[in-house]
Amino acid sequence: MTDEITEKPVVCATALGKSYTDSSGAVVALGGVSLLVNSGEFVAVCGPSGCGKSTLLLIIGLLLKADEGNLALIGQDIGGMSASSKSSFRAQNIGFVFQDFHLIPYLNVMENVMVPALAKPIGDAPARAKALLEEMGLSHRHDHLPSELSSGERQRTALVRALLLRPKLILADEPTGNLDRDNADAVLSHLANYADNGGSVVMATHDQEAMKRAGKRLHLDDGLKVVPD
Ligand code: ADP
Repeated sequence: MTDEITEKPVVCATALGKSYTDSSGAVVALGGVSLLVNSGEFVAVCGPSGCGKSTLLLIIGLLLKADEGNLALIGQDIGGMSASSKSSFRAQNIGFVFQDFHLIPYLNVMENVMVPALAKPIGDAPARAKALLEEMGLSHRHDHLPSELSSGERQRTALVRALLLRPKLILADEPTGNLDRDNADAVLSHLANYADNGGSVVMATHDQEAMKRAGKRLHLDDGLKVVPD
């Protein structure tokens, strides 16, 4: 991973704005948020439920379009990209970890972690999947369905899936939200280790322990601005 470190910021977001419209009218989720993340950084975006953390991660992950502002990822301006370019950029460069794991229920562990290789085939994907599953203590679970796993095992499976293609950026939305402390600590260690080896992690969280593990904490103040501590 270290030789893949780029000099360009992995995330350069400027004045991002996003509103949703629901039955009660417009809800401002982000009101002009800027964020810079470099290679090797583990950044926690902190704040209470509803302050806009998931919205920010969805925009950075190219799953949601901001209404205002600019976003560049790994030096590439996202503004003019077509939907298909965004999809392939996402597949090549971004791994996701969610609070609810988002594993495919009818695929076993090995099949789940290999899903990203469908979008971007790489020669060593099966060997890398096996090695990562072993590193996460899941060697004995290859053939198991998600319903047969503990929460910790499910999240470690999701982590292997996120790491499979060696993405430059991991976006983790409340990755410890459904885990006990030991499993949460294991997941956080893997994320920290990934950043130590030159990757970048942006994690949304309101877990105090998770915040402490990040190298940088940004407090999202009601979707308006990020304040470093
Ligand atoms: P967090 O991740 O910090 O809990 P979110 O980004 O999920 O915050 O939500 C920010 C605000 O936007 C909240 O007020 C939430 O209710 C609102 N919101 C999020 N998604 C939608 C949506 N699809 N439609 C309407 N409002 C939404």
